Amino acid sequence: MTETGDKLPFGLQPRSVLLLYTESNAFKRKENQQVSQRTFSIIKPDAVRKGHTAAILAEIEKAGFKIIAVKKLSISKTQAEGFYYVHKERPFFGSLTDFMSSGPIFPLVLEKENAIADLRKLMGATNPANAEEGTIRKKYAGSIEENAIHGSDGEDTAQFEIGYFFAGYELA
Ligand code: GDP
Repeated sequence: MTETGDKLPFGLQPRSVLLLYTESNAFKRKENQQVSQRTFSIIKPDAVRKGHTAAILAEIEKAGFKIIAVKKLSISKTQAEGFYYVHKERPFFGSLTDFMSSGPIFPLVLEKENAIADLRKLMGATNPANAEEGTIRKKYAGSIEENAIHGSDGEDTAQFEIGYFFAGYELA
């Protein structure tokens, strides 16, 4: 601007314009970091088999989540074991990983304020018998294992789980 000799309005100097611009962008970034969070979810094979995929996606959107990424795929037993590695010592590990590799699933990346906690609330308790009325598991889950939906239980877990199923370019 100064090279061309153009005059700025209100007596502003080029440097103050630059500062105004960068400051306001920095504020927006800070604001976004505070309010927006990503989580990872899976519509599990039981729900897909029973034809509940669209209904569950609708519940998720109705609850204010933005669907950042979604795909349909089937995973192998080994891939299911990698995903549920933290549960490897649990007695149900073999059965859980058989179930998760038994048919197509829909992995999802979701975004909203308090996404991790709010998705867990929307899902309901692990055992649908204990899940609150109106939750996804109460409506669509058949048993403690075949419980329709997965949701990350913390920030570190969400980061690992998103990276397990999605490449960076799929989240742009
Ligand atoms: P979540 O966070 O509510 O999904 O529950 P967990 O992280 O404790 O367990 C992971 C998944 O393992 C659950 O969603 C169920 O599919 C399965 N699971 C959990 N507890 C049991 C159990 O006691 N028996 C069986 N068969 N499966 C279970």
